[in-house]
Amino acid sequence: MGRRLLLVGPPGAGKGTQAQLLAKAIGIPHVSTGEMLRDHVSRETPLGKRARAIMEAGDLVPDEIVIAMVTERLAEDDAVCGFLLDGFPRTAVQAEALAEQVAEAPLEIVINLDVDEDEIVKRNVARGRDDDTEETIRNRLLVYRTQTEPLIAYYEDHGILRRVDGLGTVEEVFGRIVAELAR
Ligand code: AMP
Repeated sequence: MGRRLLLVGPPGAGKGTQAQLLAKAIGIPHVSTGEMLRDHVSRETPLGKRARAIMEAGDLVPDEIVIAMVTERLAEDDAVCGFLLDGFPRTAVQAEALAEQVAEAPLEIVINLDVDEDEIVKRNVARGRDDDTEETIRNRLLVYRTQTEPLIAYYEDHGILRRVDGLGTVEEVFGRIVAELAR
């Protein structure tokens, strides 16, 4: 039986890197809404054209769009035996939609990558992606704090939240995640 996992944490916490490593190690698909959206943007699909400006501003793409994307992705054969979600859900509405979709085989563990705010700002300035102007970074952090951070309490209430210190090398943080999943 595969695992049904979710990695959460502020933008720049190293979620994407850790999610890729972890999904590969466990042999489950890495489902990243950010990657799916960037793919639409680069292929200039209608969705991509709509999402581009939103992403460049560091805002959230409308719930119904990302929910439809994830619903489709999780219905594919390879996700039946487990998945690692990265960057979704980001709002309470998305979390409710996900809970409904996976009602029969709910999320097992939510890993919260903990990184303090000064470190986050440093990392975001350093990583230099297209959508990484200072204004975008600030807005992305604000959006995270107001819309996404409340989900940590939601998953804590469900008894499935695990906190992992996100400070350190990629290998150190990965080791902590693996240890946490083995508990
Ligand atoms: P990420 O790679 O996860 O940091 O996502 C990059 C950008 O894609 C975000 O800043 C949002 O604009 C958009 N995005 C990704 N996932 C979601 C989501 N679940 N809901 C809304 N927007 C999203």
